[in-house]
Amino acid sequence: MPEWKEVLDEASQYAVRYLDGLPDRRVGSSATLADLRATLDVPLPAHPQPAREVIADLALAADPGVVASSSGRFFGFVVGGATPAALAADWLTSVWDQNAGLYVLGPAAAVVEEVAGRWLAELLGLPPTVSAGFVTGAQMANFTGLTIALHEVLRRAGWEVASAGLWGAPRVRVLAGRGRHGTIDRALRFLGAGVDAIVEVDMDDQGRMRPDALASALAVDDGPAIVCAQLGNVNSGAMDPVGEICDLAHARGAWVHVDGAFGLWAAASPRLRPLVDGVARADSWTTDAHKWLNVPYDSGLVFCAHPAAHRAAMGARAGYLVHGADGERDALDYGPEHSRRARGFAVYAAIRALGREGIAEMIERCCAHATRFAERLAASGKAEILGEVVLNQVLVRFPGDDDRNRAVIERVQQEGTCWMSGTTWQGRAAMRISVSNWSTTEEDVDRSVDAILRCL
Ligand SMILES: *Cc1c(COP(=O)(O)O)cnc(C)c1O
Repeated sequence: MPEWKEVLDEASQYAVRYLDGLPDRRVGSSATLADLRATLDVPLPAHPQPAREVIADLALAADPGVVASSSGRFFGFVVGGATPAALAADWLTSVWDQNAGLYVLGPAAAVVEEVAGRWLAELLGLPPTVSAGFVTGAQMANFTGLTIALHEVLRRAGWEVASAGLWGAPRVRVLAGRGRHGTIDRALRFLGAGVDAIVEVDMDDQGRMRPDALASALAVDDGPAIVCAQLGNVNSGAMDPVGEICDLAHARGAWVHVDGAFGLWAAASPRLRPLVDGVARADSWTTDAHKWLNVPYDSGLVFCAHPAAHRAAMGARAGYLVHGADGERDALDYGPEHSRRARGFAVYAAIRALGREGIAEMIERCCAHATRFAERLAASGKAEILGEVVLNQVLVRFPGDDDRNRAVIERVQQEGTCWMSGTTWQGRAAMRISVSNWSTTEEDVDRSVDAILRCL
């Protein structure tokens, strides 16, 4: 019998130390590439080593190179932390080690996904009949959504992509905002549709797609088309007018895919829900659980208003597979993966622990913290806030040129109190702050603002 208790106790003791230390830990990595290679790059071991020792050695060597991105003072990119319930459920997911592709390999995993999918539809204001796929992140959710869209708009035009492929198919135009996330382009590359399929639609100065520009682009021809709307511009947090986009697109038979990696979570707050007005009228949706729901990586979600089209595009039907009877969910019908982790457990636990009110409160709290960042930085007289703070994202410009702005960001990262990334907004370098962590407090915001001002 292996020594389960020994090795799991080792991991658990380290985990509790790490998590308890998060509030005081330096946020960025404290090790250089050379440091990490020096401690981790050992020759291929010839002999076995006790599991407990391997874990102890690994934790010791890796720790300095771990970015505390689940800290309440990590504001880079759009990165969530891990709530206690989601993290513990993620541990159990590894313990159970289910292959969640098929019902027969993980009945509990399948039912948990079914239930979590329904809860998510309700939380995010989507039709109750949507199908849901649990994927690695918004990249794969966009890939899945665009796959279904491409198959379906071409099927309606009399072309079966699944058998005939794209060679010789009618051309499909993909109308997407200029401020779209790069994962849309990458998904089209994977799909073989190519980025030349994209027709760029103009955005306003906040980063929202302009409906008048979409209307003109749609009017160019009446061939098959997919419109990509975005909820949550990765820089400004801007939300496309999704209801208006759906009406324009549907009036000429186009499919609407919504990339709401983080912005779709505005729907979970009664106060912010007007920002996603009309979102239920779209055809497919992307969101992340590892961003604003604060589920550990990796966890993304794709939803589709046309479950049959979803299964037709993604489903697998191979002779040796044992498929669930009617009513049993085979997860591989809803995503690009075959064998996969039972990602639903952590999502289920996260939602159950927070509840509808807890989720709304978490989303609103992050937005309030973003506003506090903007107000305190602006009040200092040493920084300018670019655009409006509509959600959880803040764009900050410091006096001086782009080089100075980039130098300030680097200095803040090195100082270690907090971590923010940089970007280019309307041609100018800027710091971007994303508040997406459940554990961020007002004190974290104040400490971070003080650190930024010190670094200036
Ligand atoms: C983060 C993000 C993505 C990519 O998400 P991953 O989870 O990293 O795959 C796509 N679209 C938007 C709008 C995002 O914010």
